[in-house]
Amino acid sequence: MSKHRYSLGRWRFALLLCLFFAASVLSQTKIKDLKPTVILISIDGMRSDYLDRFKPPALTRVANEGVRAKWMIPSFPTKTFPNHYTIATGLYPAHHGIVENNVFDFDTVFTMSKREEVRNPRWWGGEPIWVTAQKQGQLSGSYFFVGTEAPIERINLWKSRYYNGRVPNNMRVDKVLSWLDNPISNRPTMITLYFSDVDDAGHEFGPDAEETKYAVWDVDASIDRLMSGLKLRGIDKQVNVIIVSDHGMASVDVRNVTFLDDHFDFDDAERILWTGEIVQIFPKPGKEDSIFEKIKGLPHVTCWKKADIPERLHYRDGKRVAPIICSSQEGWSTSNHKRYDDWMKEVDDPTQPRGAHGYDNALGSMRATFIAHGSAFKKGFVSEPFPNVDVYELMCKILGLKPAPNDGSLDRVRSMLR
Ligand SMILES: [Zn+2]
Repeated sequence: MSKHRYSLGRWRFALLLCLFFAASVLSQTKIKDLKPTVILISIDGMRSDYLDRFKPPALTRVANEGVRAKWMIPSFPTKTFPNHYTIATGLYPAHHGIVENNVFDFDTVFTMSKREEVRNPRWWGGEPIWVTAQKQGQLSGSYFFVGTEAPIERINLWKSRYYNGRVPNNMRVDKVLSWLDNPISNRPTMITLYFSDVDDAGHEFGPDAEETKYAVWDVDASIDRLMSGLKLRGIDKQVNVIIVSDHGMASVDVRNVTFLDDHFDFDDAERILWTGEIVQIFPKPGKEDSIFEKIKGLPHVTCWKKADIPERLHYRDGKRVAPIICSSQEGWSTSNHKRYDDWMKEVDDPTQPRGAHGYDNALGSMRATFIAHGSAFKKGFVSEPFPNVDVYELMCKILGLKPAPNDGSLDRVRSMLR
C-alpha cells in the first residue's frame, strides 16, 4: 500500500518535471532580429584526423550539415600562441610579432604565464578580428582566446575574461548563449570561445590514445550544448559557428632528445629561448658563425640562420625572429641537460608515448581542424586545405567588415560560402 502511494508520488513528480522542462523550453525567447554573427571556437590541439578517427557526434553532425576542410594548414611554428593570433589577425607569426610561445623584445622575455606581459598590448601586432569589429561599430565578446586580454589599439572588448583554465566548459558555453539573449543594441556579433582539454590530453597521452579520444568527446558535448542552445533560440541555422584548432599533435618518445649543450658553449649566447620543438638562439656579438658551425649538421634537428629559413615558412622576415632558429625533427625534442632532467622529474614513465607540436607546419601530424556551420556556409561542403591566415578575411566577409591589412586571401576560401 505504502509502496503504491510512493510510486504514485513519483509519477506526479515526473509529470511536474516534464511540465517544468516544457515550460522552460517554451519560455526561451526566440531571437528574431539576429545580425550576421560569428562564434569562433578554438579546440586547442584538435588534429585534423581526430574527427574521422574519434567520430565525436556533435562535431561530425555540424561538419556534415555545414563545411569542413580536409585540413587547415597551421603557421610555423605550430605553437598555440602564434597560431591563435594568426587565426585572429590573418597575419603570419613573423608579421604579428608573437613568433613563438616565448618572445624576446623590449629587453624582456614574453611567456604565456607572464600575465602582465600577456595583457600588455605592446606585444600584439596587427589587428585581431574583435578589434576590427569594435572599430566598425559591432560588439565583440570573448570567453577566452589568445590575445583578448590586451587592449590592442586601445580597444577593450565589449565583454571578456582573463584566462582561467578551471572555468568549466559548459559555463563558457552558457555565458556565450546568454549574451545572445541581450537586446540587439547590446548583443555581440563577434564571439570567441576556447577549450584546452584536447591539447592537454594529447600532450600527456599522445594523439593515438584513448584518453585523447575521451577529451575530444568531452569537448564535443559542449559543442552539442552550444548548438542545442542556439536551436532553442531559433538561430542554430543562422549563427555562423566556426570551429578551428591551432595545430595538430605528434607522437613523441621522450627519450628522443638532442642536447645542444653537448655541442656548443652556452656562454657564447646572449640568451636561448626553449621549447622542445623550437629553439631561439641569440648569439653574443661575433659568435653567430661559430655557434652555427657546431650545430648546423646535427641529426634530428634543423638549424637555420635567420636569413636562410625557407621562404615557405613565412618566418625569416620577422623582426623578433632570433638570429638562429632550430626546429626539431617530428617526434624529437631539442634541449639541454638541466632542462631535460627537470622535465623528466614530471614524467612518470618515459617509455609511454606523449604528444608534442611546434614542428614543421608541412607535417601531416601538425594539420589543424576547420569546421563551419551557419547561414553564410554551404551545406555538406568539403573544402581543400587552406592556410589559417585566411580565417580572418572569411570572418570579415561574413560580418560585413572592412579587413585590416593581412596575409590571408578570401579567394582561397570563398568557395565554402553560399
Ligand atoms: Zn595549442
